Amino acid sequence: MDFIKDGWFTETCQLWPGQALSLEVEEILCNKKSEYQEITVFRSKTYGTVLVLDGVIQCTERDEFAYQEMIAYLPLLSHPSPKKVLIIGGGDGGVLREVVKCPMVESVTQCEIDEEVINVSKKYLPEMAKGFQSTKLTLKIGDGFEFMKQNQDAFDIIITDSTDPVGPAESLFKESYYQHIKEALRNGGILCSQVDSAWLHLEMIKEMQTYCKTLFPVVEYAYSSIPSYPGGQNGYMLCSKNPETNFKEPRKTLSKEEIENMDLKYYNPEIHRASFILPEFARKELDECMTSSA
Ligand code: SAM
Repeated sequence: MDFIKDGWFTETCQLWPGQALSLEVEEILCNKKSEYQEITVFRSKTYGTVLVLDGVIQCTERDEFAYQEMIAYLPLLSHPSPKKVLIIGGGDGGVLREVVKCPMVESVTQCEIDEEVINVSKKYLPEMAKGFQSTKLTLKIGDGFEFMKQNQDAFDIIITDSTDPVGPAESLFKESYYQHIKEALRNGGILCSQVDSAWLHLEMIKEMQTYCKTLFPVVEYAYSSIPSYPGGQNGYMLCSKNPETNFKEPRKTLSKEEIENMDLKYYNPEIHRASFILPEFARKELDECMTSSA
């Protein structure tokens, strides 16, 4: 556990060289090695309980909702009737918690490679893991890439809530994974995958957007602000099989009352629209790659 020293956790990673985020630690609650990764949970001074996999922050109680709500509601509220949902990864349960809140969703399948992450989240992050109690859920333990290959014409929405493209999640950032997603989606189906921040990974986002555009008629990149993620942001790749989909305008606009009843803390229709408006350095690069691949 080299990443905790003198009461501070410090996140360094080959994917964001030359920078580090530190959080002050109050108590280490868990540290174990699963078959796939090192799992650490600590109580921080100002970000609540924090889940870390292989030294990289997955979620903190203080800002997790900014990620979970956006990766769930950007696709769900862009689809006219999102009945069947698949989540790949998502072992902390936060995305599942949001997806099962949506009344239009009838069933959710989740495929997580590491059962230990689910067990640890149930114990230390019960507010995130409460989705695992839903009767809408069918849980599979296994590799998301392999699972995707076994499904055809099966889901309205597929969400990839994975770790970064090193270790067990590497295959989930490859073009072949997106080809399998296309097969697994029903007509008019939508996918949403976490793809990191434009500040740090613009080249990777461009590459993904270019091959997604060869597979889907509609492809967009959105982002939300999350202080505990590298660069303070997270990005989402959204693709639709329906050429009429306009991700930038929610298909269903939640009322203030619905937002209140669903206990949403980040998502609202205005932030849905705003999440597609990119700063100029990112807009220029991503628009260019869309034009050249069209
Ligand atoms: N929101 C977080 C983020 O953006 O960094 C991700 C949270 S969630 C804990 C990530 C999950 O993806 C982990 O539980 C990990 O075990 C799972 N995962 C990684 N590779 C996977 C794969 N090939 N198939 C299924 N799940 C995978």
